[in-house]
Amino acid sequence: MSSRTLSIGLGIVACTVLATSTRAQQPPQGPPPITMKQLTPDVWAALGGAGGNVTIIVGKTSVITVDAKQTEPGAKDLLAEIAKITPKPVGTAIITHSDGDHVNGLVAFPAGVKIIAHENNKKEQEAALAAGGRGAPPADKLPNQVVTKNKETMTIDGVKLELYHFAPAHTSGDLIVYLPDQKIVSMGDLVVTNRADDNPNIHFEKNGSTEGWLANVKGMIGLNADTYVTGHGDLLKKADLQRKLDATTARRNKIVAMVKEGKTLDEIKTGLPDAPAPGAPARGAGAPAGGGGGGRGGPAPLTFVESAYQEITKGAKK
Ligand SMILES: [Zn+2]
Repeated sequence: MSSRTLSIGLGIVACTVLATSTRAQQPPQGPPPITMKQLTPDVWAALGGAGGNVTIIVGKTSVITVDAKQTEPGAKDLLAEIAKITPKPVGTAIITHSDGDHVNGLVAFPAGVKIIAHENNKKEQEAALAAGGRGAPPADKLPNQVVTKNKETMTIDGVKLELYHFAPAHTSGDLIVYLPDQKIVSMGDLVVTNRADDNPNIHFEKNGSTEGWLANVKGMIGLNADTYVTGHGDLLKKADLQRKLDATTARRNKIVAMVKEGKTLDEIKTGLPDAPAPGAPARGAGAPAGGGGGGRGGPAPLTFVESAYQEITKGAKK
């Protein structure tokens, strides 16, 4: 090999290395594509894409979705995937909670779509709309049918549904969608599998509740269901929920006991470092509690331990 060939060769290697490292340093170019999973002849899960997972139920003449993705392009991707499985239009969207990554894609949904949500979800969306800014929901797609009871049974376009609000948990307006004939539960972000740590994600600022979370997961386990569609990540089985319930119950009981012993919040946080989620990449042993899996802007939301501590000590002062 001549020295000229060698230097050209090295130049190509250097350029390739540079291109690769530049790409690695840039934020990812948009979300990964949606993965469609067929659960029964008429029910699909649209996992990934822009925003939370969406359950798709094909009714007699129209489609029902549970949640709506995060952005207009993300929802257009979703609608394109739906068009591949049925020519029927989306007539109904049931929204599990008020977070933008489950709501804001409604902007791309057909005009006149029925939007069902818990009444507290609607209140949270109205507050977000009044506050304005980037995360605000689309003004013309607020819920137009609200759930006020802890259980509402309905048939939409021939599809039997049961909607449950066991208690505030991830937010104050959580709604669980149960399809009794198909034995499928869609739960929004009550459980997700894309976190590094094993804690539930409680939005204390939206009046979520660690105690209410336990009630919701117990309630979901009590339903006659085989498949649980999470808010982000993979589908789960009942045994996965039971493991998560047991781990979280034990963790919360420890926090209750430490509060009774007079431990400070800092002492409790030090005594209860986050357990990694099953399958999550290992983290440094010295990682701070609540760290990892972040990437959010603005003030850090309360961790599970902080939320539980607030609830428990507030109760004790009454
Ligand atoms: Zn979410």
